[in-house]
Amino acid sequence: MHNLPRIRPSIYLFLSIFLFSCPIFAQKIQVQRVEPTNWWVGMKEPRLQLILHGKDLGGSNVEISHPGVRLEQVHTVENPNYLFVDLTVGPDARPGTFNLVLTKEVAVRRGRRTTQQRVSTSFPYELKARTNELKAQGVDQSDLIYLLLPDRFANGDPSNDRFADMADTKADRNDPFLRHGGDLQGVINHMDYFKEMGVTALWLNPIIENNQPLTNEGGVQRSAYHGYGFTDHYQVDKRLGGNTAYKKLVEVAHASGIKIVQDAVYNHVGINHWFIKDLPMKDWLHQWPTYTNTSYKDQPLVDPYASAIDRKVTSDGWFVPFLPDLNQNNPFVANYLLQHAIWTVEKFGIDAWRVDTYMYNDLEFMNRCNAALLEEYPRLHIFGENWVNSVVNQAYFQRNNLQVPFKSNLPGCTDFQLQFAINDALNQNIGWNEGVQRLYQVLGQDYVYEDPSKNVIFLDNHDMDRFLSVVGEDMQKYRMGMSWLLTSRGIPQIYYGTEILMKNFKNPSDAEVRKDFPGGFPGDKENKFLTSGRTNAENEAFNFVKKLATYRKNTPALHSGKLMQYLPQDGVYVYFRYDDTKTVMVVMNSNEKEVSLSTARFSERIKSATKAKNVVTDETIPVVETMKLAARTAYVLELIP
Ligand code: CA
Repeated sequence: MHNLPRIRPSIYLFLSIFLFSCPIFAQKIQVQRVEPTNWWVGMKEPRLQLILHGKDLGGSNVEISHPGVRLEQVHTVENPNYLFVDLTVGPDARPGTFNLVLTKEVAVRRGRRTTQQRVSTSFPYELKARTNELKAQGVDQSDLIYLLLPDRFANGDPSNDRFADMADTKADRNDPFLRHGGDLQGVINHMDYFKEMGVTALWLNPIIENNQPLTNEGGVQRSAYHGYGFTDHYQVDKRLGGNTAYKKLVEVAHASGIKIVQDAVYNHVGINHWFIKDLPMKDWLHQWPTYTNTSYKDQPLVDPYASAIDRKVTSDGWFVPFLPDLNQNNPFVANYLLQHAIWTVEKFGIDAWRVDTYMYNDLEFMNRCNAALLEEYPRLHIFGENWVNSVVNQAYFQRNNLQVPFKSNLPGCTDFQLQFAINDALNQNIGWNEGVQRLYQVLGQDYVYEDPSKNVIFLDNHDMDRFLSVVGEDMQKYRMGMSWLLTSRGIPQIYYGTEILMKNFKNPSDAEVRKDFPGGFPGDKENKFLTSGRTNAENEAFNFVKKLATYRKNTPALHSGKLMQYLPQDGVYVYFRYDDTKTVMVVMNSNEKEVSLSTARFSERIKSATKAKNVVTDETIPVVETMKLAARTAYVLELIP
């Protein structure tokens, strides 16, 4: 170590003069993030709007040089840390990486004088070639969707259960409100289970990063294990395995003949989203003078007599205080969300979208977004969560035959009206408008939809009491419900665990209906994925679902056949699914006792058939003038011509 020279006083004088006369360098400009994180050449829509986030980007000049790519416009917005860049990716654009070069004149003070100085920075941007991987296959009536909550289904990788660098560092299976460690590898590990059951599509509750802190809800610290508070649109949560695991899941599923439905959340994001912490502009969000919650009421959106304020509260009020409500009327927000949706289909190859809280979105934006997705991917299916209380209000939010001022282009919905009706059919006493009448009446209003077969039908989901509990743990009713689900019109969806008799009401909280699938987690004492791990009753239920699901999978009359239903009489509801080659007759006796059914009334569909195969038992039974129906039983009968 050499001796440091002693600084003489004259040097101090020199240094202070030097520093005073030197330029005060302006802050460098810096790009930290560009989204979409990449794009592709050869997309139908050539326009692309990039959001650049960093430091002091406002007012920058942007240059790019790449064959076939044209810079159209650069937008400086309220927050100088952002820049929006409009590009056209022409049909002749080649895959490759180019630099976004930003330059800016900044004021520099030199002594008492201020001069201008140029500063610059650049950021690489990649245009990829599109691949021929299977994607956007759509789901339709030939499918059976299995809905699962990734955190609660199976833990295939205990090393990703928790991370010290995330806002919520906890994972604890003993706490119903904390994360339990389930992940996408856990889903991949059970592909054979889905196939065995006859499942052809998986709908996962949201998988995008939720780097949210624990939130205090009703005095309880809760994690965002449900996934509905995105914090980085372009990252799948690393506790689920990140983008790599999601890509792998889609590939493995597709190779197994199983499609993937992604849960889209356009309406809001998590309070910890990166752009919430540094808002691009004030009206990026729906701002209110004081916190305003949505009323959760659909009526003001459809009511011809509604007040403007009621409408505004429904759609612009926040869902909860920690999920900021995005202003989709802001064109930058709209582009951001819409491009992310396209990016997701192209990047991961998903087959369908389920849109969360559909009616709370700006409905014109949703039309634009749906149209953009369907233009790019014509076979893609999109269905919205429209949790409302009437058929006509439900139809308002999708393609319908109504003459109303706003026309939705949403292809389908989660059919809550039929979910209410099947539960009433199974639980109410028979009456003029009660019991199985409800199923008959609700289906009888299908004329309001442009295509009701695109609706997703279900017995329960992650937000509802579990079906088995709703029917009082009555296995007869359970089988009736399943028989209906797997033979009625629409795309059936099963909620994970319903096939192995998982039960519970949402009491005291929805965590009760989101329990871990037994056998999915290290150390589980029981493994309900295996026949040997299930009780007799659970195997009976599983085999019942499997039998009907497999039958459905192989029966085009249930995919594209017509539906004919008969006015229920004396608590017996009869309907047919049929095409030119096959007729399936479903007979539901909702009575608490055995009854006789006179079949003469159904000759229009039974025609000359004298026998039928009981699809569940494989027995051949005679179709006679009077048939004995056991109490609380549904028969699925394939007529033998
Ligand atoms: Ca894990």
